[in-house]
Amino acid sequence: MRRKLRSDRGAACRGRRHIDLSAPPCGAEQDRERPVTALLSSTTDPFAGLPSILAMRDLRRGHLREAHPSPTAATLLRVDPLATVRALCLAAAPLYGRSDDTWSVATIVAAIGERLALRVASAPPCVVVDAGPLHQLWLHAVATAKAAELLAHGTGSLPPEEAHLLGLLHDLPLWFALATQRAPQAKATDSVALADADERRRRLGLPDSVANRLAAAAAAIEDGPGAKLTEVTQILLAAQLLAELAGFTHPGRLSEPDHAVQQLAQRSAAAIGSVLRDSVAADLRAIGIDLDGVGREPDSSADSGIDFATAAEAQGELACIDAARLALRVLGGDRPIPDYRAALAASAETATTVLDYDRAMVGHWIRETGALVIQQPGASGDAPLLRHSIRLTPADQSALHDALHACRPVLLAAAGERDGLLAGIGANEALVVPINRKFHTPSFLLVDRTISGRSVQAERSSELLTMLAVTTGMRVENLLLDRRARRSAQSALVDPLTRLWNRRMGIATLDQAIARARRSDTDLTVLMIDLDQFKKLNDTYGHVQGDVALRATAGVLRHTLRRADTISRYGGEEFLVLLTETSAEEASLLAARLFVEIEARGHSVNLPITVSIGQASLGASDTAEGILARADRALYASKAQGRNRFSVDDDDA
Ligand code: GH3
Ligand code: MG
Ligand code: MG
Repeated sequence: MRRKLRSDRGAACRGRRHIDLSAPPCGAEQDRERPVTALLSSTTDPFAGLPSILAMRDLRRGHLREAHPSPTAATLLRVDPLATVRALCLAAAPLYGRSDDTWSVATIVAAIGERLALRVASAPPCVVVDAGPLHQLWLHAVATAKAAELLAHGTGSLPPEEAHLLGLLHDLPLWFALATQRAPQAKATDSVALADADERRRRLGLPDSVANRLAAAAAAIEDGPGAKLTEVTQILLAAQLLAELAGFTHPGRLSEPDHAVQQLAQRSAAAIGSVLRDSVAADLRAIGIDLDGVGREPDSSADSGIDFATAAEAQGELACIDAARLALRVLGGDRPIPDYRAALAASAETATTVLDYDRAMVGHWIRETGALVIQQPGASGDAPLLRHSIRLTPADQSALHDALHACRPVLLAAAGERDGLLAGIGANEALVVPINRKFHTPSFLLVDRTISGRSVQAERSSELLTMLAVTTGMRVENLLLDRRARRSAQSALVDPLTRLWNRRMGIATLDQAIARARRSDTDLTVLMIDLDQFKKLNDTYGHVQGDVALRATAGVLRHTLRRADTISRYGGEEFLVLLTETSAEEASLLAARLFVEIEARGHSVNLPITVSIGQASLGASDTAEGILARADRALYASKAQGRNRFSVDDDDA
């Protein structure tokens, strides 16, 4: 017996758990007359009818006044089934990789990032015709989730986090039937009534593994006693029972539970039943909701809470008035933008914070392969949150081409496509605008409002988006030019074989290091390092192997010494090392280590590499030439004494 949930009046719900929908929440007269399939096909976005429970206006007004200052995404998602489904769908979009184990709040947050997850829970506010059953369903779900988690801990038959999510979401179809979004843009038909499990699965785009588990749970609940129960469904049913026992009743009717389930529930009732109410209360308190207040009529005299619709509108207005803020953000007027990656990150962040898009990503179009490499920048230029290559359809490519040509945002809208760009980012529609039109690999800014189910087509915001992209393009070009100039200046000072500084840079740095050591009255020690019998090595193994030995030695120096030390290739097979704030004793210890490591590195490349070292520390009247001459003298002493050793020139000049 399948539970059917319909919004058409009179269609009896034959399932064991029946919600009276005779006053359909969507409230649109004509919807009741239309078959469910028509409702589905008229709804392009399943999320449009799926607000966050926390975004319900009466909940906001009545109970969120003493909200926790900053609940984390994880705490919000653990108590909000609707937001969790939205987040789960996002996390499961191909963009984030179709992982089969995305099945806990922690993995969802890890997949989509804390910021996006928080955004999911702040969907546009909604009102429902009768919030009572929805509140009741909500508390029942939170309590079932908690109980399932505790039972899973006790039985060890499935991961507690997974049990939690199953408990939270097991009544998914009912959520669709009861929740109606009434944001200004939402049409009445946006309320989604899902006919059966398959359709539900198709519409939601949940990963198969998740949808299958939910379908199995729903089937077990519907099929009633006598059905073959797995351990997982037993836990779920027992958790429901425990929730009911703790006073979190379901708005429908719960049937007689199976014997095995009853036993499981009874066994755990003493341990779990008593703590369930407290732990649900604690979870809700963590996000600023008072359990005892939920479901009561909101106190209208205390209606001083934030009106989220107005707040969002005000934010939109602000974005329009203050377009210059966009440019400032990206040009780095209010914070430093160190490199082009940070500029791209700032641009994407501005698109979400100022222009109020739900998501913003940067994509690089590799025309040769027909792929768009998507990069969602991490916070302020950190490593990208994700990188993902999407194979573009011919239609996608022509849209990108149009965007490049016109230098303006182009709308991608092809809901339901299985391949291509939109499917790749899990969106129904998106805007794409070029950042660097002239580059061989042009980049694009991609934005969407899939999470909040709003259109991206507003004229004003796409103008601002163009401005954002153009500004970003200019900034990126400048930063790349800076980088090129820096690199070419640097390359005049770098030895191409070893990538160490060259002799010129070595000597220049020595002058500076001496001046600094004098100013700060600190030590400075110089090592002159020369490969032994290098001519012979070249003659025996060839010049190519000689080069290998030079690079290997350079590698050891680079890895053994501190960043503050300057290492340069002073001559053919001779290296100069400046050790700042290092006494003669400390330098000798270091030199001893270098012998061992260079010889070991030689073994690993099958070459007999040893070095001789001359060491000199800065004396009271040393000049650069003076200290170099003393280090050289020490080096020759090492050579004269048989090589593969070090000598210190301790004449205090
Ligand atoms: P010693 O132990 O006294 O230092 O003897 P040596 O053979 O190392 O010193 P010598 O000055 O006689 O020879 C240095 C050799 O280093 C000569 C030159 O061919 C070789 N050399 C210099 N630069 C390079 C280079 O870039 N690559 C290669 N493979 N060999 C180089
Ligand atoms: Mg030599
Ligand atoms: Mg030499």
